[in-house]
Amino acid sequence: MEFNLNKMIRPHLAGVKSYQTLRDSFLDKKVVFLDANENPFGEFNRYPDGDPIQLKMKLAEINQSKTENLFLGNGSDELIDLTMRIFCEPTKDSILIMDPSFVMYEIYAKMNNVKVEKLQLNSDFELKKDSFLNTISKSQAKVLFLCSPNNPTGNSIDDLEFYIQNFTGIVVVDEAYIEFSPEDSAVNLLSKYPNVIVLKTLSKAFGMAGLRIGVGFASPEIASLFIQLKPPYNISSESQRLALEQLQNLEELKNNISIILNEKENFRVGLETISSATKIFPSDANFFLIKFKDAELVYQKILKENILTSLRHPALKNCLRISVGTADENSKLLSALSQI
Ligand code: PMP
Repeated sequence: MEFNLNKMIRPHLAGVKSYQTLRDSFLDKKVVFLDANENPFGEFNRYPDGDPIQLKMKLAEINQSKTENLFLGNGSDELIDLTMRIFCEPTKDSILIMDPSFVMYEIYAKMNNVKVEKLQLNSDFELKKDSFLNTISKSQAKVLFLCSPNNPTGNSIDDLEFYIQNFTGIVVVDEAYIEFSPEDSAVNLLSKYPNVIVLKTLSKAFGMAGLRIGVGFASPEIASLFIQLKPPYNISSESQRLALEQLQNLEELKNNISIILNEKENFRVGLETISSATKIFPSDANFFLIKFKDAELVYQKILKENILTSLRHPALKNCLRISVGTADENSKLLSALSQI
């Protein structure tokens, strides 16, 4: 069946015009700006670029994509929310998510009054083709969220393309952790599938969580829709400037990823010696999901040593999700764990 984007968009949005920043067409000219009620004084008095072209060019280059395929969010969180606001009619439409997966899909669905359907994973948190086909044969979902590597489990989806191929609505592939993983990015599949949106972020492998920059990739039509419907100046001027500055040192950022991956391996070897840890799930991300005999007890004991881990996902009994830190931080954690 041919994908028709216009049939996917919430009907009332068809005629909605976004906020137009008048100055976009004057940026390269010497103009006195009296159009946006700014204060003429101060270091940060001007609104930022609404569609940060410099940053987008750099991100397109890094991701072997094109600026017309790219849109930015205040974190990929904002892009998840916008996806639902653009495509899902409150009380009528539903999204389909893996269970467990990133908690914000469900939280934004609730905030937008959108229904949630769940894809069962097997006991190793893998998505399986037969169970997927069975679920979608009964599903009305408009948007499928696939998270690979998945948070909080850490594993990647095997044969991601199969799931994209078999879903007729919008498929969001959340690749927040892809740079840590050996898998190829789904950005490579965009030319083949007009219904795909890939989400990446500068918060994880690029080490810029404080700047709040999420990066979306899709067809130029979907990308312009997001640009048109996003909040007007969603990336602050300082975030744009600092992100560009950081991305000039790509080699250093890549080197940090290698350091984290080395530490991850040392950490895993250390975890194997911890008797209370009964299972370490395979991870392609910068964290491990670990099963303990009594996760609550472990969580509290290591918290007493001033180490905070995550015990949040309701679908995961007796599991902690632990990020890979520096060599020092990891050995502090391993030593706290070995006391239990
Ligand atoms: N997707 C996944 C899978 C995540 O784990 C996170 C953050 N924990 C996000 C999206 C949101 O990232 P950000 O808003 O920082 O870009």
